[in-house]
Amino acid sequence: MQALIDQEVIPHDSVTQEDVMAAGESGELKVHSSVSRIPFFIIHALCLVALFLPFHWYWVGLAVTFYYIRMFGVTAGYHRYFSHRSYKLHRVTQFLMAFLAESSAQKGVLWWASHHRVHHATSDTPEDIHSPMQKGFWWAHVGWVLSGRYDKYDENLIRDFAKFPELRWISKHFLVPPVALGVAMFAGGFLFGGWTAAWSALIWGFFISTVACWHGTYTINSLSHVWGGRRFETTDDSRNNFVLALITMGEGWHNNHHYRMYSTRQGLRWYEIDMTYYLLKMMSWVGLAWDLREPREERPQAGKQQGIAA
Ligand SMILES: [Zn+2]
Ligand SMILES: [Zn+2]
Repeated sequence: MQALIDQEVIPHDSVTQEDVMAAGESGELKVHSSVSRIPFFIIHALCLVALFLPFHWYWVGLAVTFYYIRMFGVTAGYHRYFSHRSYKLHRVTQFLMAFLAESSAQKGVLWWASHHRVHHATSDTPEDIHSPMQKGFWWAHVGWVLSGRYDKYDENLIRDFAKFPELRWISKHFLVPPVALGVAMFAGGFLFGGWTAAWSALIWGFFISTVACWHGTYTINSLSHVWGGRRFETTDDSRNNFVLALITMGEGWHNNHHYRMYSTRQGLRWYEIDMTYYLLKMMSWVGLAWDLREPREERPQAGKQQGIAA
């Protein structure tokens, strides 16, 4: 495990069920957060403040815009970059991607990615942290996050990124990006139209958008192992789903993803819309990202096979 991660291999390929079990027993789990469950519900309730503010469609537009900007951070950042290393970034853009991802208020990149690697190594087995097949819809959707059981993470499973001090910092201080965005939204609204606009911008552009982005992301855990078709006979129950792909900028092609998790591209056919991949492709044209991995590539010799249904 150690040797594999130190090499330039895709580390998630080498995370196996045994590694996950060993991490749990080693006592080396890192306390990431003990974020109370209460703010989660308060933030949902704050969305209702919109009912008491003057309505205009441009507030809806603001919410949708920041939903998709941050969904890109979730899929291109937390998922395809930090969890799977499916393409490469410069160290500066790597940090900016972490900042963007965390602005969605889904905790630190190291926390997110290490747990996601566990998901792939144990998909739909009793050890899977959010399998709807094992524990039902609500547990997979949000229960596993709110339970507090997974507030910790094993740094060994994410050593390839934990070696960067700036990523350890931003992962530990994961509230900095969302708070900065909230403040910027409030200030921007104030400049646009005074105090009422400031509150509207905060509620629509930050709170409603954040809650929508949470649940959009969570559908991949709760629904994409249940709802949709299966192109590949993977060892899990992952599915491909057009609706989920639109909501999540391409993550709905989850069966494709479980089949070739190292691939940047998840929509394999022309009609399998994968906005995250298209945007990353554009970034690669101007040199902002490179080495985007295609599903047709042979997987690297990572040594251990478990977790890959190739
Ligand atoms: Zn999955
Ligand atoms: Zn994944």
